[in-house]
Amino acid sequence: MTAQPTKRIVVKVGSSLVTNNGDGLDRAAIEQWAEQVATLLKAGHQLLMVSSGAIAEGMQRLAWRERPTAIHQLQAAAAVGQMGLVQMYESSFARFNLQSAQVLLTNADLDHPERRANAKATLDTLLGLGVVPVINENDTVVTDEIKFGDNDHLAALVVNLIHADLLIILTDQGGLFTADPRQDQAATLVTEASAGDPLLEKMAGGVGSAISKGGMLTKILAAKTAAQTGASTVIASGHEPQVLNQIVAGLPIGTLIKAAG
Ligand code: GLU
Repeated sequence: MTAQPTKRIVVKVGSSLVTNNGDGLDRAAIEQWAEQVATLLKAGHQLLMVSSGAIAEGMQRLAWRERPTAIHQLQAAAAVGQMGLVQMYESSFARFNLQSAQVLLTNADLDHPERRANAKATLDTLLGLGVVPVINENDTVVTDEIKFGDNDHLAALVVNLIHADLLIILTDQGGLFTADPRQDQAATLVTEASAGDPLLEKMAGGVGSAISKGGMLTKILAAKTAAQTGASTVIASGHEPQVLNQIVAGLPIGTLIKAAG
């Protein structure tokens, strides 16, 4: 794999990673990503974060030990937790002299021509200003990513919206494995694949072979969506030191899912 001339990069970070498996926001991890974003911006790239973690943080703040099942309670937790999430990103980026911006979106916003154009214009302007947008689903008004996806689909739609070159999905696993490595010792990391290959969906969670029930499947489907506008996707561990810098340098890390052409 050779270094890619990436320009626009969407980095999606999942709830368990951002909150240390629900233990509260992981400042050290967020600062490490912020530092890498700062390095990549200096090198001429444009970066956007899509981060979940609002519900997990809201549960902490409300002292809820168990994730509620009622959607309106999850939405309330997200509204509480979003405050902490953006505070943490804001202060982490500020440490590296970067401005950040909160952007709350829904899938429906991106389907609506006028709202879509507004979202694109705002994001393009923020990127032009060197500001790092921190995007989450607007959980107060919709429940798409709460029910299924943890923002993987939203991240892919953002890639399509702003014609990003690369989607990086950071997770707590090393990438996509041929089978669930916790259950199958013969499972190996898939290092490179083509977006849309139906085999990937099988590995990621086809019936009876789920690596983490939907967790990896939504990432594979996000890669397929991102590929529609020509973006490749890398799924990699957010715990890996310098993971963003390594990926952008073209080093073989995690699973690269290439867009055709
Ligand atoms: N947008 C939600 C969040 O940031 C999605 C994640 C979830 O369902 O836990 O918390």
